[in-house]
Amino acid sequence: MNRPLKAVVTLLVALICGAAAKSTAPVHVPLPRSNPLKQTEQEKKLNSPTASTLFSEETLPSVGRPMAIGYYPSGCLQGGVELPTTGPTWQVMRLSRNRNWGHPELVQFLERFAPLAAEAAGWKGILIGDMAQPRGGPLPFGHKSHQVGLDVDIWFMPMPDRVLSKAERENILGSNVVAADGKHVDDKTWSPADVALIRTAAEQPEVERVLVNAAIKKELCRVESQNDRSWMSKVRPWYGHDDHIHVRLKCPADSPNCRAQPPVPGGDGCDKSLDHWFLDSILHIKIPEFGGSSRALKLKDLPPACTAVLNAPANPVSAETQERSQPR
Ligand SMILES: [Zn+2]
Repeated sequence: MNRPLKAVVTLLVALICGAAAKSTAPVHVPLPRSNPLKQTEQEKKLNSPTASTLFSEETLPSVGRPMAIGYYPSGCLQGGVELPTTGPTWQVMRLSRNRNWGHPELVQFLERFAPLAAEAAGWKGILIGDMAQPRGGPLPFGHKSHQVGLDVDIWFMPMPDRVLSKAERENILGSNVVAADGKHVDDKTWSPADVALIRTAAEQPEVERVLVNAAIKKELCRVESQNDRSWMSKVRPWYGHDDHIHVRLKCPADSPNCRAQPPVPGGDGCDKSLDHWFLDSILHIKIPEFGGSSRALKLKDLPPACTAVLNAPANPVSAETQERSQPR
């Protein structure tokens, strides 16, 4: 092949292969030629590996009318509000996670529920674990759900009679109330106060379901066997949940894009369906860190409105309240 012809062939091959590579390669937003090192915010968000990274980087909620968007394990939160980290009958734990945000209905629910639960359990107050990130969305660790601002974890441990320091809230371990075999509650840590906590949560009308370890559900069926157990239909067994309950609220009326979970089956759940949870294959199942598949979700896997939530300006009012509510 003479030189000029070879050059033409090489160019054609490069063009064809280049085009093919372009059509099969993952879509990336090209960097601007003028400044190849600087990505715009929008480009970063589109090219980013996971939605959990993006949502966990947002330290403040979006502006906009409060709305739970999407499904509990695949959605986000617009106009989130913060639960004060210390209240008369509650304290929020693990403050470094910045997950004490929710739809206003969740915050109002907790402000109303905390004194009720404390009274029923004979406690000074309750300890609150994770709610949602400021803009909801998938979490990089810890949960599959908690994405739309309607989920909250409450510890099986009374609030002490003093304000815990930031360090204490980081380091105190929850009380595991399930025995090592996973089949019973642990008599050393389980108490009737825990029954009162769960029952009070399940009895609230806005509560959709309460998730607890199967050994706890079994114990509730046992101790309540002579009583009316209709309140127990909302109490559902789930993996883990041995040191806290998970309370989930129904979709609020102001959130048309919030997807409801199928209703709990009728009955108290103290039937044969519970046996499934005590099969060896289920008891010893290895759950990837709290079922971490939401970590892999991309922005495109969430409702499109969640991209708008992520890109929206921060609500400046929340910056001030957040500053004020931090303990030392
Ligand atoms: Zn939870």
